[in-house]
Amino acid sequence: MRRKVIAGNWKMNNDLQQSVSLIEELKNKLENKSLNCDVIICPPFTSLYEAKKLIDGSAIKLGAQNMFYEDSGAYTGEISAQMLKSVGCEYVILGHSERRTIFGERDEVINKKIKKALSQKLKPIFCVGETLEEREKDITEKVIKKQIEKGLVDVTPDEVLDVIIAYEPVWAIGTGRTATPQQAQEVHNFIRKLLANMYSKDFANMIVIQYGGSVKPENAGELLSQKDIDGALVGGACLKAESFLGIIEAA
Ligand code: 13P
Repeated sequence: MRRKVIAGNWKMNNDLQQSVSLIEELKNKLENKSLNCDVIICPPFTSLYEAKKLIDGSAIKLGAQNMFYEDSGAYTGEISAQMLKSVGCEYVILGHSERRTIFGERDEVINKKIKKALSQKLKPIFCVGETLEEREKDITEKVIKKQIEKGLVDVTPDEVLDVIIAYEPVWAIGTGRTATPQQAQEVHNFIRKLLANMYSKDFANMIVIQYGGSVKPENAGELLSQKDIDGALVGGACLKAESFLGIIEAA
C-alpha cells in the first residue's frame, strides 16, 4: 500500500529566525509520536541549510519550492538541483500554479525541471490543477491530462516512481474553498488511470498523489480517507505547527 505523504509548502513566508522557531515547535510536537505518514517541509531557499541541521535525527524531511533545470552558469537568481542536494533537500516542488501563473512557467520548462531533478536524485512534487474557469467549462480532465503528459515527457518508468503528483485545483488554493472529497477523489482517480496508460497499472498504483488546496485539520481526515488521495500539499495551514500537526495526525 502507498504510504501517505504530508508536505508543507511554506511559500514566501518566514525569515531565518521564524523558520527556526517553527521547525523547533514542530519537532517538539512530533517527538515520541509514531507517524503513519511521511512529513516533508519546504521552507524558502534561505532557510534550507539551517532547516536541515534542525531536522537531523527527526522524521521530518526537507524539500525546496523550485529550482532551475541547468547545472550552473549565467542564470542570475536561480538555484540548481545540485545546490539543493548540497543543503540536504530530498524533494522539490515543481510546476506549482503560482509558478505557472505569476512566473509564466510552461509545461515544457516544468518537464525540463522534473527531468533534471530526477537525474540528480531529487524527488519532484509535481503540481497540476485546473482554474475555476476551466472547471466551469468542464475541461478539468483535459487540462490535467495535458499538464501530466507534457510534464512527464521522457520520464522513464523507473524514474516516475520517485515523482509525487500533487493535484491542486487553482480555485482551492488559499481561498478556503476546498474541493469536496468526492471532487478530489474523481480527479485523483482520473490521474491514476492516466498514469496506468502512460506507464502500467502496477506503477500507477505505487505513485503517490497528494491533494492540495485549503487543506486544514478539519477537512484533512475526510480528504485523506479517499481511495486515491495519498497525502496533502499544505500551504496556509503548515505555517502553524499546531494545524500542520493536526493534518499529520489525520493521516
Ligand atoms: P493553501 O493550503 O494555502 O490553500 O495552499 C495550497 C498550496 O498551494 C500548496 O502548495
